[in-house]
Amino acid sequence: MIEIKDLHKKYGKLTVLDGLELEFKKGGILAILGPNGSGKTTLIKCLLGMVIPNKGNITINGKSVLKKWEYRNNLNYLPQIANFPSNLSVIELINMVKNLRSKQSNEQELISLFGLEEFLKKKLGNLSGGTKQKVNLILAFMFDSDLIILDEPTTGLDPISLIHLKDLIRKERVKGKTILITTHIMSFVDEMADEIVFLLDGKIYFNGSGEALKKQTKIDDLERAIASLISKHYV
Ligand code: ADP
Repeated sequence: MIEIKDLHKKYGKLTVLDGLELEFKKGGILAILGPNGSGKTTLIKCLLGMVIPNKGNITINGKSVLKKWEYRNNLNYLPQIANFPSNLSVIELINMVKNLRSKQSNEQELISLFGLEEFLKKKLGNLSGGTKQKVNLILAFMFDSDLIILDEPTTGLDPISLIHLKDLIRKERVKGKTILITTHIMSFVDEMADEIVFLLDGKIYFNGSGEALKKQTKIDDLERAIASLISKHYV
């Protein structure tokens, strides 16, 4: 489904992506991991067409996405920081996004899943961080798309909402969706990810399952296995 070939991105003199190669087949959950500043968001933005790479190619379902936009109709994106207009109400924002995308949407189901009924008429500027994140999740999941990209989806969520989020992601996986997630929560990765990509210094430093990483590092705890990958790199 996603194929990345020799992807390079520089900001001025700073090399962020340095010849990235990645293949991820349709269906399943891919976790994109790496320390702060390792290029995870830049990679996601290249996939979204928000950042133009200096070199290389990205194909989704066999078609290059560079300088194209139609493919975005079949893609949902949860941004890490949702800068919602503060004077709009939750329902006004949901309706606005619905009007922008002429696709079937299932916001009612998601509103009740996250218990947002009582917040619908509240202004976005008055919501807590966790409630804003639930609105963010509704906007990302309310359309039926084959590719779902989630940048730090667990931010600010209470434990019950986190369970709902995991169930939601699993449901999408069962439907055959491809889900890309960046997160720093390793228990989430351990529980959810089919495959891990670990970025370091602009390259893919590890690509495989969590189990394969544990085997390679001989460490049974994913968080510590990842930490050992990083410390070995800097020895
Ligand atoms: P991550 O998501 O892994 O934390 P990013 O992709 O956000 O990393 O950033 C990678 C590096 O690129 C960082 O050093 C960041 O400061 C830099 N960077 C990101 N976006 C820009 C930009 N628009 N202009 C200049 N530097 C940027």
